[in-house]
Amino acid sequence: MPSHQPAAGMMAVDPAYVSQPSPMASKDEPNRSKSYDPKKPHITDTPLTKANWYKHVNWLNVFLIGGIPLMGLIQAFWTPLRLYTAIWAIAYYFATGLGITAGYHRLWAHTSYQATTPLKIFLAAVGGGAVEGSIRWWARDHRAHHRYTDTDKDPYSVRKGLLYSHLGWMIMKQNPKRIGRTDISDLNDDPVVVWQHKNYLKVVFGMGLIFPTLVAGLGWGDWLGGFIYAGILRIFFVQQATFCVNSLAHWLGDQPFDDRNSPRDHVITAIVTLGEGYHNFHHEFPSDYRNAIEWHQYDPTKWSIWTWKQLGLAYDLKQFRSNEIEKGRVQQLQKKIDRRRAELDWGTPLETLPVMEWDDYVEQCKNGRQLISVAGIVHDLGESNFVNDHPGGKAMIRSGIGKDATAMFNGGVYFHSNAAHNLLSTMRVGVIRGGMEVEIWKKAQQENKDAYIAKDSNGSRVVRAGFQPTKVFEPSATAGAA
Ligand SMILES: [Zn+2]
Ligand SMILES: [Zn+2]
Repeated sequence: MPSHQPAAGMMAVDPAYVSQPSPMASKDEPNRSKSYDPKKPHITDTPLTKANWYKHVNWLNVFLIGGIPLMGLIQAFWTPLRLYTAIWAIAYYFATGLGITAGYHRLWAHTSYQATTPLKIFLAAVGGGAVEGSIRWWARDHRAHHRYTDTDKDPYSVRKGLLYSHLGWMIMKQNPKRIGRTDISDLNDDPVVVWQHKNYLKVVFGMGLIFPTLVAGLGWGDWLGGFIYAGILRIFFVQQATFCVNSLAHWLGDQPFDDRNSPRDHVITAIVTLGEGYHNFHHEFPSDYRNAIEWHQYDPTKWSIWTWKQLGLAYDLKQFRSNEIEKGRVQQLQKKIDRRRAELDWGTPLETLPVMEWDDYVEQCKNGRQLISVAGIVHDLGESNFVNDHPGGKAMIRSGIGKDATAMFNGGVYFHSNAAHNLLSTMRVGVIRGGMEVEIWKKAQQENKDAYIAKDSNGSRVVRAGFQPTKVFEPSATAGAA
């Protein structure tokens, strides 16, 4: 049995994976830095000062992310860009970008599909050419990013700022113990991943610089152009583009599936990142091989994986059922509707209205108050001087004052609209003892039978169209007789 296969009697969660330091913090792991000792205090444990700031900086990454492109930009000044080289640089940009999005991300970090060995070797090679670290390192951090999104254990938390999530987390040294623990046993079992990790520098120079130079040099004699444009500057663009998944995709756009965390969907991010811009969807359904689920959305990474499947290079493409996806969308919509509902005046909640005796109601009207009772609920028309504004005229509404206007309002005189019931509810000031529906509803509340009363996420009663408590479908025979 494979070592990481759970067996009967084992704990549901292996304690080794519960909030432990990252595997890079262990001596037995194949860390590339030989000087790293997990027992010694890490530089990030000491505060940043004028005297030690340079120790906090990851100089290798500064060189890889900033130094190399700067050299390329300077060289580009006196290196003419030839057409073939430009086409090759763009094509290689897409290939190395796919190495990250389809390889590092969707295949290795999320196992959203299976790849045959030739495809794995191709993706490990071109992914290395993007110069973003080894698959093993990249996928480990990315799994921590998904598990601990927006927290301190997220290696590139956008809560620390847009620039930090884009570049800062690589330029400044990170304490490997801070980053959340994730299970990467599957990656340690993958010979392609392990080989690439151990030979990472060879892969970077070979695929990042030597290979694109060779193609342009042997192909059409443009050695320097191949080195500058398809090598150095192409690395810069592909790095900046894919870094946008960590920054822009957590910053710009909509949240159709969940808004508790920062991931967002936006077409601009998708265009920049070869389709990784539907990031709200991706964080909700990370093992789906798609990021864009609509056919018209831009996701060349998905199209590539699908094409590889047709060619027999990829298989087991994982996809969430549309029923599950739609549930998330509906719940998020409901949340938005509840938020809009909370901003509206739905009238004083029935349960907080004072109870009035019928005689008291009649008496107050005789003394000049403009009260009207509909379905046992008393409304004050005087405050907003509604009698003058009544669309059906003053005489009609006046005839209901001091009486039970339930039948008049619900079809006896005029069958009032939903909007009229809504408006009426904002004027309510009391309920009549023994009044109609209110009493039934209150009794049900007391008997704890309120399960049928829909409440929104703020705990307020949901009033559906046409279901205001003043709406009575069959006016009682006695109504209007008073
Ligand atoms: Zn993310
Ligand atoms: Zn992801």
